[in-house]
Amino acid sequence: MKEQNGEVAVEERERPVPGMGQVLIRVHACGVCHSDLGLLQGGFPFAQFPIVPGHEVAGTVEEVGEGVEWPQTGDRVGMPWLYSSCGHCEQCTRGEEVLCQVAPQVTGITQDGGYAEFMLAPAAYVAPIPDALDFADAAPLMCAGLTVYNGLKNARFEPGQRVAIIGLGGLGHLGVLYARAMGARVAVLSSSPDKEDEAKNLGAEQFISESGAALSEALLDWEGGANVILATAPSSESMTDALPGLAPDGTLVVLGAAAGEISVSPMDLIGARRHLIGSPSGSRKDIRDALNLAAAHNIRPRITRRPLEEAADVLDEMNERRLRGRVVLNIG
Ligand SMILES: [Zn+2]
Ligand SMILES: [Zn+2]
Repeated sequence: MKEQNGEVAVEERERPVPGMGQVLIRVHACGVCHSDLGLLQGGFPFAQFPIVPGHEVAGTVEEVGEGVEWPQTGDRVGMPWLYSSCGHCEQCTRGEEVLCQVAPQVTGITQDGGYAEFMLAPAAYVAPIPDALDFADAAPLMCAGLTVYNGLKNARFEPGQRVAIIGLGGLGHLGVLYARAMGARVAVLSSSPDKEDEAKNLGAEQFISESGAALSEALLDWEGGANVILATAPSSESMTDALPGLAPDGTLVVLGAAAGEISVSPMDLIGARRHLIGSPSGSRKDIRDALNLAAAHNIRPRITRRPLEEAADVLDEMNERRLRGRVVLNIG
């Protein structure tokens, strides 16, 4: 991507050489995240154009720079959203480096990412990919999987609780899979009634396609409401509609970067002590946990494989809402 709203094109470049503390990753697969479209459309004012997008990277270490003890050449690794952080602020030193406000770098937004045959990454920020996951299945977990896993964790989810997931796209379907693997009962909220079969096949016990007050009422009818709502669809309206459907002490987690505003009546928050939080992707411990959970529970994202050369088409199709599941670019 050369500039905001500019052309997306493949170009020949010199193979990068890893510097001190860096590794060169030979990319095998890179997921296409909704944020990549957001980047193109100007949603990230801190982006550094021209930029190679892609923060759902899975590949092998091709070469290591000076001072790198781990990983080694040939190791299977991935890169998530967080490219690096300052390392010394309060957030970094308590293991929450994804919240670093001092010097956060973002893969594929401020540093070249994975829509490429090779990319550089700081050795300290790559994640090992478990042997049980192939590259194409691991790629969407680096952002989408991590985001839903960590959203549940930040909502203090406990096994057996009722989790409602707004949207059944690239993020939402992984929300169902992770929530089920973590022991949740799941409802899917979607404005597309034709997604009911897919939701049930993924393991949801409820499918709700109402909107407005009927949506929160349908949720409250589900044994008193959802303990957690994961809002994956970028719709402030559906978040507003769903919030009063939380059970007492329940939490709505905003994951989808929606335009507009969420509105909530203070009484709806106070009376049942409901929580409204946002949750970004996750830190290094979180991506390890999310990958290990996927390996242990056989979580496999629904993916469509496309060649790198079709990246521009894929972003067009995403913009026109023509994609289902997650697209993974096959590289190398
Ligand atoms: Zn993403
Ligand atoms: Zn920091």
